[in-house]
Amino acid sequence: LKGEVTQFLQETAMQPGLAVILVGDNPASQVYVRNTGKACVEAGMRSDQHVLPADITQEDLLNLVDRLNADPAIHGILVQLPLPPHINPLTVQERVWPVKDVDGFHPLNVGYLSMGREGLVPCTPLGVMEILKDAQIPLLGRQAVIVGRSNIVGKPLAQLLLREHATVTLCHSRTRDLPAVCRGADILIAATGQKRMVRGSWIKPGAAVIDVGISFEEQNGKVKQGGDVDTDAALEVAGCLSPSPGGPGPMTIAMLLRNTLLAARRQAGK
Ligand code: NDP
Repeated sequence: LKGEVTQFLQETAMQPGLAVILVGDNPASQVYVRNTGKACVEAGMRSDQHVLPADITQEDLLNLVDRLNADPAIHGILVQLPLPPHINPLTVQERVWPVKDVDGFHPLNVGYLSMGREGLVPCTPLGVMEILKDAQIPLLGRQAVIVGRSNIVGKPLAQLLLREHATVTLCHSRTRDLPAVCRGADILIAATGQKRMVRGSWIKPGAAVIDVGISFEEQNGKVKQGGDVDTDAALEVAGCLSPSPGGPGPMTIAMLLRNTLLAARRQAGK
């Protein structure tokens, strides 16, 4: 990305700019926003961070979004979730101009994705696709099972896998006999937040397993981050396994930056 950013700067004299809005002091959000800022700077992008108090009114937040929409130095806007309960996340997401919606959550971008048209696509699903591509996992005609149907991971990921001609099954908390469904997967993606839910016996020998989930547990008095997959058991059966932490997490940030560069290119008419 750094090379592409440099080239874009040379061609347009524009530096891609990402504005991140953080409301309140959620520790996980603070870490993500900090890492995003660092990654932006490393890639040669401009990073503006707006840290707002938890009691900010929705109107003031929307006014900030309006200012950033109109700011020509800002090409991407990310409103970090969760927002405090008095703010409607949908109202805020819909206020971000679709061309600057680098999270891909605006209804227009969601619609474009499901229609197979060009838009901005959510970052975690993009990161998963990049991991599968890098590991050279064949997708055409394969059975892909996603556990978790959220708007930010499961549903957009299903669309991306369909684009690559996988046969996609989207599972959730009411799926019957989830282990059996998972055992049919050539590609198994877990995105639930349920600690070590996916056991070794749920995995087809040789399958590619992507662990998107984030969970925490105490080990020897220390809090350790893990994922949805029972890693040790999975490694005995799976053909390959992406780690959590260290897999979809960093890839999400990389894809956010890639979306920002893409948004800047489009805004520059490139
Ligand atoms: P949500 O809570 O929005 O969705 C969780 C999904 O998992 C739901 O569809 C839910 O089903 C399903 N689910 C929960 N429990 C079970 C179960 N026992 N069996 C089957 N399905 C179950 O979470 P997100 O999609 O936002 O995130 C999922 C996980 O991925 C979290 O751990 C999150 O922290 C992580 N994450 C990681 C990112 C990264 O950068 N690495 C980015 C985004 C998320 P139902 O719909 O029926 O309730």
